[in-house]
Amino acid sequence: MTNSISTRLAVLGSGPAGLTAAIYAARAGLSPIVIQGIQPGGQLTTTTDVENYPGFRDVIQGPWLMEEMQAQAEHVGTKVVWDHISAVDLSRRPFRLTGDSGVQYFADTLVIATGAQARWLGLPSEEHLKNKGVSACATCDGFFFRGKKVAVIGGGNTAVEEALYLTNHSHDVTLIHRRDSLRAEKILQDRLFANEKIDVIWDSEVVEFVGSGDPEALVGLDIRNKRTGEISRVEAEGAFVAIGHKPATELFAGQIELDEDGYIRIEAGTTKTSVPGVFACGDVMDKIYRQAVTAAGTGCMAALDAEKYLAAQEFEALAAE
Ligand code: NDP
Repeated sequence: MTNSISTRLAVLGSGPAGLTAAIYAARAGLSPIVIQGIQPGGQLTTTTDVENYPGFRDVIQGPWLMEEMQAQAEHVGTKVVWDHISAVDLSRRPFRLTGDSGVQYFADTLVIATGAQARWLGLPSEEHLKNKGVSACATCDGFFFRGKKVAVIGGGNTAVEEALYLTNHSHDVTLIHRRDSLRAEKILQDRLFANEKIDVIWDSEVVEFVGSGDPEALVGLDIRNKRTGEISRVEAEGAFVAIGHKPATELFAGQIELDEDGYIRIEAGTTKTSVPGVFACGDVMDKIYRQAVTAAGTGCMAALDAEKYLAAQEFEALAAE
């Protein structure tokens, strides 16, 4: 068995960002390797219907879209390996990545596309009703609840933006927050309070997502007022948990610059990280847009940035001879 693999470009992560980076890099002749990670295909494999990825008039399935992206990446010359990287060393060239499989990867350039995971409340009923009314992305799934009552849980920028976005589809949006003030920016709060379609329920936590029917779907949320202890039901057919995301950056802590929320810091307008030759794309560097299409867009940018970087290195090496 091979214990080491050398490549000009390694992509960590196999969501839309990583696979798009691989497609562009492969077509540029860089023979990239994609190391899939523990969730091959990324977050889209845990959603079902996708209606907002350009190019498809009919509803498509998230897992299918990711299989197609992988097939395209492989077709143009990407090697996709199933491995989980447990250590990286970005202080030496080539960069070194150690896989759980025992394989050591040596990469001239690295594209980090490890993504982010939505934070969930952790209730069994939340897990049970995911894709049956419970979601973590209003931009992705809000359209499915047009004309219906919906609820958003959280008090940050994401929760307020999601509540405002949902008023495009629903006349009855309830924001449920665990405290008596929001942490979202003031301008967003002003918009929220001025919107007649949105009610806010303060000091309350969700204790249960309630499903009913056959096939089962969300019909409401049981909430507990933290001041009085009283339990009441909020009727809703869609519930959006917006309590933050966790970027997958533990592996790089101390080696690459991260922002205060743990996202990879990049040079504005590029995918360049604080380490030359290391690029980041998708949700691991984007806390605002978080869409498959924006992840794919930055994946393309990362491949182009890496290609340029390698060309410059080669030019310098030739000039030095
Ligand atoms: P935040 O961490 O800012 O907010 C999370 C919210 O969820 C908080 O109100 C928090 O409550 C609440 N919360 C956390 N855990 C729980 C829980 N277990 N139960 C109930 N409520 C909970 O996350 P965001 O996703 O909103 O934003 C992340 C970062 O991205 C921020 O820096 C934000 O500014 C940025 N962002 C910027 C945007 C923009 O500029 N347009 C858009 C979206 C995000 P509490 O307040 O009590 O802690």
